[in-house]
Amino acid sequence: MIRKSVYRRFILYFIMFGMCIITLFLFLISQSEKPILENSIRDAVAFQQKHIFSVLQKFSFSATHVVDTLVNSREINNYLSDPEKAELVPVNRLIKNIIGIDPSFYRAELLDRNNEVLLSVYRQDPRLQVQDDITRKGVSLQFIPKLSSKVSHQIWFSEIIASQHLFSDSAFFHLLYASYPLYTNHQYAGSVVVYFNIDNLLNFLTSDDRLDIYITDQKGKILFSSDQMDSVTQGETQFFQSTFEVSDIRSEQQLKQKGFSFMPLGALYNGQGLLLFCRASSSFLQEKSDWYNAVVVEIFVIVIIFSFCFGIIIAIGPSRTVEKLKTVSKEKNKYMRLLDQYVPVFETDRHGVITRCNQAFCLLSQFSESELIGKPSTILNFNQADSSIAHIKSILDAGLPWQGEVHYISKRGKEFWLFSTVIPIYGNHRELMGYMSISTDKTDKKQLEVMLEIDSLTEIYNRSKLNKCLSHEFERTKRYGTVCSVIMIDIDFFKQVNDNFGHFMGDKVLYQLAILLNQSTRMIDEVGRWGGEEFMIVCPETTLEDALILAEKIRATIASHDFSDVGRLTVSLGVAEMEPEKTLQSILEQADYYLYEAKNKGRNCVMSRMGYFQIADKNTI
Ligand code: GH3
Ligand code: MG
Ligand code: MG
Repeated sequence: MIRKSVYRRFILYFIMFGMCIITLFLFLISQSEKPILENSIRDAVAFQQKHIFSVLQKFSFSATHVVDTLVNSREINNYLSDPEKAELVPVNRLIKNIIGIDPSFYRAELLDRNNEVLLSVYRQDPRLQVQDDITRKGVSLQFIPKLSSKVSHQIWFSEIIASQHLFSDSAFFHLLYASYPLYTNHQYAGSVVVYFNIDNLLNFLTSDDRLDIYITDQKGKILFSSDQMDSVTQGETQFFQSTFEVSDIRSEQQLKQKGFSFMPLGALYNGQGLLLFCRASSSFLQEKSDWYNAVVVEIFVIVIIFSFCFGIIIAIGPSRTVEKLKTVSKEKNKYMRLLDQYVPVFETDRHGVITRCNQAFCLLSQFSESELIGKPSTILNFNQADSSIAHIKSILDAGLPWQGEVHYISKRGKEFWLFSTVIPIYGNHRELMGYMSISTDKTDKKQLEVMLEIDSLTEIYNRSKLNKCLSHEFERTKRYGTVCSVIMIDIDFFKQVNDNFGHFMGDKVLYQLAILLNQSTRMIDEVGRWGGEEFMIVCPETTLEDALILAEKIRATIASHDFSDVGRLTVSLGVAEMEPEKTLQSILEQADYYLYEAKNKGRNCVMSRMGYFQIADKNTI
């Protein structure tokens, strides 16, 4: 499903790209189409012109050759030397032979000096028979020039004329005749005239499918054209000007507008020459247009096929990548959801103001996201004045991550503990943007730990925790030479309380006493139940003298306290100071010893190595 869409997209891109290429190509080809066409026409015209030139030259040469042969023949010369005596029969035979050579030789005549026909022989089509034309004998051909005054050996060509076949009413053909003067003793004696049927020649000259060709005389009269205009074949005069509405047949600009190329053909026609007009034929233009269309269709098909194939080939890689990315993204989203639900995360700016928090953190803190955003992160700390906050800040300020346990309190006052990793967040330019805290919930573990250290009856430290505190402080004393004192407290005659008021009341007294002890001591003092009705206070940074003052204060407070339902109670206290050179055991034994000393002394008093202690006696309060 995913892959299909990628394939489709890539194929679409490639087809669009292909379309752009086609559009560009069509634009370029449309730009170059006209020059290409013009070049093709120019080439065709140039070729045709060369072709016509050479054909005309050949015709001119062969026509001249035929006339020359006749003129220089023995038969004609014999006849001319003595026309009275000589016979025309050999001349007639010769002419018949020569006309028989080529179908384009239509007629040959021998004229006397008055241009009267002495002999006329013609080819009778279609049987190609050569016949005498006795009807023309004696006919005067005035259109043949007489060159009696001056000897000239120049062959003379007539205009092209449309003529009708002798034995056919309708068939017109094009005729051209060449004349050559004959001289005897430098006197004009007559001439030889050869008539040529030039239809084949003209057909040949104008046979080019690519071009419309028009051959005109100097005045623009159309003598022959490739489209075989009926009017021409019927001998009617058609002019190039009127046919194509060109005012000046030699104006290149006008001709160009009509698509014509123009060229004079000088070899024939009395030295004045013929004019040749060519232009691309409609079939040629159609052919070019068909070619253009075929090329466009071919390119279109090729581009579509290539686009399709390239699209498929190119899409293979991205398709797989997209599939992998989708899987990875799915996995990532799954983990992100899990993270969001189960891993408390929040972010702050550089000043510790919460900018973002996830569902898990909101759940623990019992605040909504909107309630937390914009608040300082310390709002949730259990003890906001905690010096550890300053410690954490100093580590983060140094650009280092911090890891540790943080004690929080929720909106509804529920405590929770997180083991957090706080990392700095940097911007694109390595500038500090804020911090991110990723945590694991340690509340259960912490609660268990606390439970293990708390005495269930009095809710103060139990003996196990007191032992830890003692060890810790004793180590500090030994390592840093600090001072620390231990106060051991035992309720006097507590058995009687139980006996008189019952165990339940006894427990209540123990609970109340724990509260009194907590209230009477400082934060850093560790208060715990040592066992039964015995309590202990570990006083760090406290000398024996100061501990004695505290002990006396506690004694007095308890002695003056009115325990509900029970009344007054007293306690005996033994105080000992930690000495690094001694063992912890001996210090505890010492405290215990002085406690019993206090009992022995009559109870409700404080005893230490300094003896009996009572504030009133020392007057310290
Ligand atoms: P003394 O002044 O010599 O210390 O007299 P005492 O009665 O306090 O001393 P004793 O050691 O004979 O008695 C201690 C009594 O404390 C015995 C016991 O019933 C009572 N006790 C110990 N633990 C508890 C407790 O958890 N709850 C209650 N209600 N009583 C306790
Ligand atoms: Mg006791
Ligand atoms: Mg006791």
